Amino acid sequence: MPSYICTTCGVGYAETDAPRETCLICADDRQYVNARGQGWTTLDELREDHVNEMHEVEPGLIGIGTKPQVAIGQRGLWIARPEGGVLWDCTPVITDAALTAIAAKGGIKAIGISHPHFYSTMVDWSRALGGVPIYLHEDNRDWVMRPDPAVEFWSGESKQIAEGVTLARVGGHFPGSTVLHWSEGAEGRGVLMTGDSIMVVPDTRWVSFMYSFPNLIPLNARGVERIVKAVKPYAYDRIYSGWWDRVLDTDAKAAVQRSADRYIAAIR
Ligand SMILES: [Zn+2]
Ligand SMILES: [Zn+2]
Repeated sequence: MPSYICTTCGVGYAETDAPRETCLICADDRQYVNARGQGWTTLDELREDHVNEMHEVEPGLIGIGTKPQVAIGQRGLWIARPEGGVLWDCTPVITDAALTAIAAKGGIKAIGISHPHFYSTMVDWSRALGGVPIYLHEDNRDWVMRPDPAVEFWSGESKQIAEGVTLARVGGHFPGSTVLHWSEGAEGRGVLMTGDSIMVVPDTRWVSFMYSFPNLIPLNARGVERIVKAVKPYAYDRIYSGWWDRVLDTDAKAAVQRSADRYIAAIR
């Protein structure tokens, strides 16, 4: 039985003979069901005409996307280490070429995912990498559409998953929305990987915060203040949100505060 993947959000479901009628992730008001109707695919089908796009975004950090774009179009980020690295978020497609490239640089020993819109084919990634743990915040438990023994729910506000790699719950978009702090990133000044919890906007000196991006529903002031507070303890100079072009290269900490102030002034 295949794991059916929603063509709009890219999330894979528990193996069934036939796909369900609607995707629960897309039926929620933070996402949307495609106007042409619910569509489904499988990883095997996607592999026929898609490849992984991989390139280094800074020393030791490699982006992994899917080309041509599938669903939401996010790319994952792989902190490569000789002793086994960390994958942050993931893209629906997994090719043998990507797995070979990952194995050649030490493999991956843990996966962290920011929030349900990016759960994607996380279970396939885990299995392809040898059954490595997938760390998800427990407050998003109800959004896991493909339960698996590899999924490890964590609770509270932070969890270190590797040396210098810490997950921090920021909430907002989803109660368990998480960012990843990588202390060695940005030449040691620190990096935050934020999915869409802290979204670098087209003017990449700024970020924004939304309850729903596709449906343009803003987050309230309390939610924004909570996110800013959650990342305050971490040293960081650069932010990678979930897409190739959404990178705030420097002075990120000040940019988050400035962006939050601008945002709250606009919604009040
Ligand atoms: Zn969906
Ligand atoms: Zn999202």
